[in-house]
This record gives sequence, C-alpha cells and structure tokens, in this order.
Amino acid sequence: MNANKLVIGNWKMNGSSARVRAFAELAARDWPGCEAALCVPYPLLHAAQAAFGVTPLRWGAQDCSAEGDGAFTGEVSARMIRELGARYVIVGHSERRAGHAETDGQIVGKVQRALSAGLTPIVCVGEKAEERDGNQTAMVLRRQLLQLVRILGTGLASIVIAYEPVWAIGSGNTATPGMIDDTHGCIADILTMQAGLQAASLRILYGGSVNPRNAHAILSRKLVAGVLVGSASLAPADFMEICRAASHCARKPASEAAA
Ligand code: PEP
Repeated sequence: MNANKLVIGNWKMNGSSARVRAFAELAARDWPGCEAALCVPYPLLHAAQAAFGVTPLRWGAQDCSAEGDGAFTGEVSARMIRELGARYVIVGHSERRAGHAETDGQIVGKVQRALSAGLTPIVCVGEKAEERDGNQTAMVLRRQLLQLVRILGTGLASIVIAYEPVWAIGSGNTATPGMIDDTHGCIADILTMQAGLQAASLRILYGGSVNPRNAHAILSRKLVAGVLVGSASLAPADFMEICRAASHCARKPASEAAA
C-alpha cells in the first residue's frame, strides 16, 4: 500500500478562478506535505493548470466521456482533460449515477478511457441508506465492482476506489470507524479475491462528510488510503487542515516501521 495518504477535493459545480488562485497561494506558502488534488469543474481546469502547476497541489476533473473524440456534443474526453495537465478524474460519483442514470458498464468505459489517456480514475462506489438498512451493502459493492474487476483484472492496481456511502455525502453523517473498517475490508476482499491483486497494491479512499474535525480519526484507519472531500474542499484553510491530518497519518514504509 502506498505510504502516502491521498486527499482529493471534489468542488462539484462550485468555484471560480479567484478561488483557484486562493488555493494556489496557500499551497505555495504552507504545504502540509501530503499527496492532494482538487477536482474542479471543466471550465476551471485551465486556471488550475496555470495556478497549481508551480505548487505541490494536483488537479483533476469530475467526470469524462466513455467515448473517444468525435460527434458527442457536450462530452469531454479523457484526452482533453489530460492535455490540461490533470492527473485525476472522478468517475461514477453517486450524483452522476443518480442524476444521469450512469450504469456500471458506462463507468467501466470511462475508467478505460481515463487510463488510456494517462489519468488516474477515482471510481466511487457506495450504498444508499435503504440498502444499508436492508443489509445489502456488501451485495451493492460487489455489483458496482464486478464489471470493473472482470475487465481490468490486475489493471485495478492503477486506479483509486472511493468508498462513499450515499447517505453520508453532504449530510454531516459520517460512517462510523466500524462501518469504514468493514466496508473497506469488503472492497479489499472483492478486489484481492476476484482480481488476484495484492492488498498492498490497493488504494481505497473514504468519502462522505469529511471535515477538519473528523479527518484525523478517519485517516488513521488502517485500510483508509485517503479521503474524498466535497464541501470541506471549498475552503482553503479546511482543505489544508485535512491535508495536514493526511500527512500526519502517512503510513511508514515496512523498512522504517521495523527499524
Ligand atoms: C462528495 O461529494 O464526494 C463528498 C464526499 O461530499 P461531502 O464531503 O460534502 O459529503
């Protein structure tokens, strides 16, 4: 497992070039030392490239097309996103699964396009409240991951998975440490057993109402490789505080841990 914890901000349909510059100023002045990126709306990718390029902060998009270039009005290809210097793209966010009826098959197509373009896809999975209440969490996660596992196989080591319980997003209700341990363990089991991956090669983030007050406790969980942050990623000071927690919780490599 990568020793660094990863912090990804999801600005959703928020932000401005002025906000991009405010983040860049803070990142250039006082960088906490973790691996972090902000996934901004498409029109801000250019501003992110100009402002974050001289800082340790990376940037990404919130979706990409499952198609290559061509007659797909309104779509944005993974190649175009990569050309603007982005490293990451969020794929299969629950707001897109719900609001745009995205299927698991389309999500796999987007992941493949992202990988071919040289982007790291961050694939969101997670159950709705009624699915958790009906003890269906493991089944839902298996369904969301199965096509990805079948098509990518060991290529899954090149992507990031974000476990985002839908009921925790934007609600202020964070999953408990026990729930996070169980679901991250379940995802790791699916990926190691079905794709033959080593647990050490997986990166599974947690997302859902992460903020500066709860970030340290969440990032300290053994199976949590980082966090995906929505509303708290809009305020530079809050985002930096979460990055500081990530830096503090970075796992020591086995060689150092043994020393
Ligand atoms: C998200 O939308 O991915 C998210 C985690 O949002 P929030 O942090 O606001 O719950």
